[in-house]
Amino acid sequence: MKLSENKIKYICLGVILIGIISLSLYNFEPEDKKIKDIKEGDYVKITGHIQSMKLERDKYRYIKSIKYIKIMDDTGGDLRVYPSKKVREDLVKYITNYNPSIKEGDIVQVIGTIQVYNGIYTIYLEDISDFRLIEKKNFERDIYLSTTPTGIYASKYGKTYHTIEGCPYGKRIVGDNIIYFYTEKDAKELNYKKCKYCASK
Ligand SMILES: [Zn+2]
Repeated sequence: MKLSENKIKYICLGVILIGIISLSLYNFEPEDKKIKDIKEGDYVKITGHIQSMKLERDKYRYIKSIKYIKIMDDTGGDLRVYPSKKVREDLVKYITNYNPSIKEGDIVQVIGTIQVYNGIYTIYLEDISDFRLIEKKNFERDIYLSTTPTGIYASKYGKTYHTIEGCPYGKRIVGDNIIYFYTEKDAKELNYKKCKYCASK
């Protein structure tokens, strides 16, 4: 068979096209993987529990931003999920949309490409639909501070809370450092101890 130049051109184009299509199909589906089996560049779907979260909270303890979420699976491996700029707000919304909010111990699933950063496996979350809650395990309630004065207060730098307005120790707290709890239970759960003076009255 004699191939004209044009025919060769079309065959080449076809081969390239098939190549591109199969490559894109190949990358389309993330691979279900265990953390211990992942390596840099893998496009994966990881399921595990939240081991820790690096959060920034405002003065009333509402989550302002999420720096990263550390996920661990049953193989003992861990990886960090960093939200990219465009999903930063969506991730805060997603996390706080649950009541109680998504936190340590909850089972989540993340999809993304593995990058190694300072020896740590990392996924940069580009799309909020690539992060989802699989199972709520931690039902610890969320504790927020009162935006208006209550009778239960402390210094945000201290570890003691007061319940008497004129407490000589409570009086020492300077202006902006004062925080107000809704209940004493909240104060205790946030690791504040009741002031001895206030407790004795
Ligand atoms: Zn006191």
